[in-house]
Amino acid sequence: MTALTVSGVTVSFDGTPAVDDVSLSVEPGEVLGILGPSGSGKSTLLRSIAGLESLDAGEIGWLGENITAVPVHKRGFALMFQDGQLFPHRSVAQNIAYPLRIAGTPSRARVTELLALVGLAGFGDRRVTDLSGGEQQRVALARSLAAEPRLLLLDEPLSSLDRELRERLAGDLRRILGETGTTAIFVTHDQDEAFAVSDRVAVMVGGVLRQTGTPADVWRRPASAEIARFLGYTTVLEGEAARVVRPMARGAVALRPAAVVVSAGGPVAATVVRSTPAVDGSRVRLAVPGIGEVDGIASAQHPVSAGDTVTVRFDDDAIADLP
Ligand code: ADP
Ligand code: MG
Repeated sequence: MTALTVSGVTVSFDGTPAVDDVSLSVEPGEVLGILGPSGSGKSTLLRSIAGLESLDAGEIGWLGENITAVPVHKRGFALMFQDGQLFPHRSVAQNIAYPLRIAGTPSRARVTELLALVGLAGFGDRRVTDLSGGEQQRVALARSLAAEPRLLLLDEPLSSLDRELRERLAGDLRRILGETGTTAIFVTHDQDEAFAVSDRVAVMVGGVLRQTGTPADVWRRPASAEIARFLGYTTVLEGEAARVVRPMARGAVALRPAAVVVSAGGPVAATVVRSTPAVDGSRVRLAVPGIGEVDGIASAQHPVSAGDTVTVRFDDDAIADLP
């Protein structure tokens, strides 16, 4: 049976809907990613599911039962935020034990197990203020999982961390949610994070859920050019131009920069408009006859400068079909 159902939920502030007629469902053990730009209504939707916002319209259901009127603390859901909101004057173990104490089921063994789960075995007696940002978020995750919530709601839990740490924690988060069989909703504005953590992704723009599917489906077939741009596709090609990069294309195609690769012996000639150094090679702007200007990449082995004539190949993995 479906775990969570959100049906036609609308939440407005001063007459303006922040969440507009949103419907979605989450299966038991599934991680649903909600991906959208800042201000698109993600947090408001999450707070509505938690029971922290009153709905203008719609219904929240759990295992088929209408829980719209059930108060926050009786839903059995846990929330985790960007800033883990730990108790600064308590130790790591005391922070993790807190929900167990509230539930009347304190257990040192459970705390030890949770510490191991989040990769902090032996950290129990440390002060949380002595931990790094990433370690603090691991503690917050352990605390959120302590009482085995029926649903874990994660609101940009990695956003305050630096990039490398974020990538590592995203992988760990996926593993931990999987190992514990936790049903979860993971809110983020970061495409890579959504892809890394979620079983299914729902794209939210302007308070409206615009597209839902597996990460692979959503990236292969964005529902519109606007969604494609949000997903990191920087160029949209139509008609003949689309068929230059994807001969079988029926309609428009969208290209991420990685779709156009400067490559010795590539099938198509291009002129470099500009080249900007990047961590691994360079980001280039290319003029391609029959297509126009597109973003592309060049590897560090192929340094290029504005005005150079080069050849390019197209990488199908970074090209999506548009409707
Ligand atoms: P996101 O989490 O995607 O960044 P939010 O849900 O926080 O988006 O906000 C969606 C919209 O609702 C924004 O325009 C925001 O300003 C507005 N909003 C959110 N919370 C409140 C509130 N408590 N009062 C008034 N406006 C709000
Ligand atoms: Mg938010």
